[in-house]
Amino acid sequence: MIYLIKPIIETIKVLGRERFTTQFPEERESLPDSYRSMFKLDIETCISCSACARICPNNTITMVGIITEKGNKVMPEIGIERCLFCALCAEVCPPKCLTLTKNYEVLEAYDKRKFIKRPEELE
Ligand code: SF4
Ligand code: SF4
Repeated sequence: MIYLIKPIIETIKVLGRERFTTQFPEERESLPDSYRSMFKLDIETCISCSACARICPNNTITMVGIITEKGNKVMPEIGIERCLFCALCAEVCPPKCLTLTKNYEVLEAYDKRKFIKRPEELE
């Protein structure tokens, strides 16, 4: 019975302390400016140059065909399950149409194939 007393005392001691966990999803932690998560691609301004695919250190980007209002183009498909979130692809993009947002909630899935996002899914 004596072995129960110490944990009970410790529990009572922390009861009055300020809570340091957040009640997700009602409460959200603020993210730093440099936080990088889900990609956003502006299909209207992508010039299909493939610079993003060439610079990617993890071969995460594949250029795939896409039908746009301006005709058939090739644009980046990103396998986010292998992404390092280094943002090199966004840095080299000439029209800055590929960016990394702070939206991390869309990066939840049990099947890793769901992380392979076609250009249309990056809008
Ligand atoms: S953030 Fe880095 S690893 Fe991810 S797709 Fe871009 S270049 Fe590749
Ligand atoms: S996203 Fe940017 S770097 Fe990639 S193909 Fe389009 S314009 Fe080029």
